[in-house]
Amino acid sequence: MTSQRRNSSGTSSKAWHPVWVALIGSVWLATIGNLALWEQVQQLPEVTGLRGLAFAIGFGTIITAATLAILSLLNWRALLKPVLTVFFLSAASGAYFMMSYGIVIDSTMITNVIQTDTKEALDLFNWRMLISFVFLGLLPSWLLWKTPLKSLAFGKQVLSNTATVVASLAIIVATLLAIFQDYSSIMRNHTQLRYLVNPLNSFYAIGMVAAKPFQRDQKTLLPIGRDAQVGALKASDKPPLLLVVLGETARMGNFGVNGYERNTTPELSKENIISLKGVSSCGTSTAASVPCMFSHLGKEDFEARKNNYESLIDVLNHAGLAVLWIDNQSGCKGVCERVPQVLTKELKHPTLCKDGECFDEIMLQQLDERIQALPAERRAKGVVVVMHQMGSHGPAYYKRVPDAFKKFQPECKSNALQECSREQVVNSFDNTILYTDHFLGQAIQWLKKSEATHASAMLYVSDHGESLGENNIYLHGLPYRIAPEVQKRVPWITWWSPQFEKQGGLSRTCVKNKAQDALSHDNYFHTILGMAGVSTEVYQAKLDVHADCRSKS
Ligand SMILES: [Zn+2]
Repeated sequence: MTSQRRNSSGTSSKAWHPVWVALIGSVWLATIGNLALWEQVQQLPEVTGLRGLAFAIGFGTIITAATLAILSLLNWRALLKPVLTVFFLSAASGAYFMMSYGIVIDSTMITNVIQTDTKEALDLFNWRMLISFVFLGLLPSWLLWKTPLKSLAFGKQVLSNTATVVASLAIIVATLLAIFQDYSSIMRNHTQLRYLVNPLNSFYAIGMVAAKPFQRDQKTLLPIGRDAQVGALKASDKPPLLLVVLGETARMGNFGVNGYERNTTPELSKENIISLKGVSSCGTSTAASVPCMFSHLGKEDFEARKNNYESLIDVLNHAGLAVLWIDNQSGCKGVCERVPQVLTKELKHPTLCKDGECFDEIMLQQLDERIQALPAERRAKGVVVVMHQMGSHGPAYYKRVPDAFKKFQPECKSNALQECSREQVVNSFDNTILYTDHFLGQAIQWLKKSEATHASAMLYVSDHGESLGENNIYLHGLPYRIAPEVQKRVPWITWWSPQFEKQGGLSRTCVKNKAQDALSHDNYFHTILGMAGVSTEVYQAKLDVHADCRSKS
């Protein structure tokens, strides 16, 4: 398998010319390293017959030549093997996730990877992943390191690298010209393809993430809502007690109260709740959605921001309210840093916590004591508790639910969702909704106990939705433009006490009439300020879902 040609620099005659190694590496990456891409290409309606074959060969040639051009810039004696190894390993990890979950790799996905904690990463680990990593990543790397490389004199290396780059670019241009018509229309109609080209997609996405801090001033945090205040309470009023439940991966359509054919919400359906069904998320992942939800900017301005700003939590704090963030997940993504926090990871509970992970009900434990520990002068003005759920975090849905709530059977007991039938995947997801229903039901019972002393209310909104195997897509995190509706539509459920309704002059019917309105996470910041009774210059009544349903201000 080795080149027998003679060489001038005196190394073994069996050594390989570095250009051949780079070329073979590029062909491997463009073909086997890109199985996920080819699987999708083969399913495109445009790719049929000879013309389809010509497109596939042309596209493959372009990927090979582009990879070779990049490798040729890095083709220096000691560098080629490490660089090519990074290419193989990146392609192997990308390919596994793309093939298993139908995800694509873009900057949001890279941000998710960086922000994922070990616990979540271990949730994804399984044998299939290891096998594909060995076959697609370690095997070619091992062969590469076994191959002796011919060492070229510096001048010859420069010449050879330059010639390879020029030739690669010429091949790209010639191929593009040959298949341009099909290429441009297919790439335009199926934008997801560009996120599938392994491993260039990962490198591009990492570059985008790395460039972000330069586009944005990360050092300063601009203040917002320093003028925030709560109005003085009338003699008949009670201070507000607002419970904000930040949901995780809950799909709007899988809630019984939203018309799902299964009764996944027996407890919520007994309560006097209002559910809005037309709410779109800001992003399709926790890392994208959570900071956006708690920002005053709204999706569009948030994504284009040049500076970082304080969050909704800071504004509530500036208003003098007692604020507490309880986290049963991987943290608050920077939005709660300046208020008291409880991390459930640090708690021990005989039945609710196991192996460093707790069921969501843990957040309802010792709640009164935790609130009592907040400053009294703040509590007198009102209390806001945020509970960040583990919710329906996948792919190990079965781990999120105590046995008593595993009503829908058989469930999927693996984190390799493709090993389970779709029915099992949906069953285990629906069990997580059934448990979230129980958690919210318990939370409402707790709020009812405070009615004598507080005007209590709850708002539950999820950060994004989830794919459950529709078109072989699982989990979430697809780029917003191409993500299916199920990843972007989130539940928005409100409950309030009679006292809260009376004090706020709220019309339940008026809010219920908005059940089908097109709303979004852009409404979140302002609706919560409205519910907490906070006035500030950053509050926009037109984005507060309740504003036009109040008879008095
Ligand atoms: Zn999430």
